[in-house]
Amino acid sequence: MRELSVYYCSKCGYYGYYQLQRNAVCPKCRVQMAPLSISYQAFMDLSCEDRDELLSQHIIDSSSPYVQRLLAPHKENNSREVIARMGDRITELEIENEKLNQTIEWMHQTIWELVRKNKGMVPDDKINPDQGIDP
Ligand SMILES: [Zn+2]
Repeated sequence: MRELSVYYCSKCGYYGYYQLQRNAVCPKCRVQMAPLSISYQAFMDLSCEDRDELLSQHIIDSSSPYVQRLLAPHKENNSREVIARMGDRITELEIENEKLNQTIEWMHQTIWELVRKNKGMVPDDKINPDQGIDP
């Protein structure tokens, strides 16, 4: 029989024991769970607090550097579930923010083109240095 391994969900902090990685799917989030680099027996020997501590550290370590910076100060006072939720939410907001920035960039470009058109200005890339600008 294959040995059990410990897997955890980085979205919600749920953890469980599985023989096969393909079975390690979070029942709440329906996402593939990540293996924990500790043996099943070693994990079982830990206290609940130590498990929380270990999992919180793993969740923080697997986040983007930006999320890590935001989570680090909260680690002392929060449980694994809170750390996981916060990390997941910050990542979501980060992606949302990225999309918004792209939208603003696009709007800025569009508005700028409209302003140029209204003022009869010629975009930089249409200027031919040899011929100058047609009046
Ligand atoms: Zn989950």
